Amino acid sequence: MAGNKTFTMIKPDAVGNNHIGPILAQINEAGFRIVAMKYTRLTPEAAGKFYEIHKERPFYGELVSYMSSGPIVAAILEKDNAVADFRTLIGATDPAKAEPGTIRARFAKSIAANAIHGSDSDENAGIEGNFFFSQLERF
Ligand code: UDP
Ligand code: MG
Repeated sequence: MAGNKTFTMIKPDAVGNNHIGPILAQINEAGFRIVAMKYTRLTPEAAGKFYEIHKERPFYGELVSYMSSGPIVAAILEKDNAVADFRTLIGATDPAKAEPGTIRARFAKSIAANAIHGSDSDENAGIEGNFFFSQLERF
């Protein structure tokens, strides 16, 4: 059965361009409830660990330096069918291929600086949420 939680990060490009407000509004309007949220900045070490799954991919070094280049907003979101519905809401990895109206189509600059992260499975949603939030901070 599909879980009811996913994990997201508003990435440095979107935070730097003052898109936190409209992105959170779109997330809420799509029916997601924010159950944990943090404004923070990743060290290169932490970004490397978060994206360890992509270690062998050619863009890993660029991704790690980009994701540690400025503040981010990390959050756990709740909704029925959260992982799949949130991936639909954010759109394709490459904003040029993202459906019009999706968060990446509206706010992303490039395939690397693509405004927002969304977990790709219930298992990874749990792992990624635990990376940023302790048991006590979750509801
Ligand atoms: N990325 C990149 N170049 C690529 C593919 C991905 O810089 O060719 C970055 C981009 O920021 C993306 C992240 O690496 O969001 C993780 O890639 P993934 O394939 O997991 O895409 P996502 O799940 O975020 O859509
Ligand atoms: Mg991914």
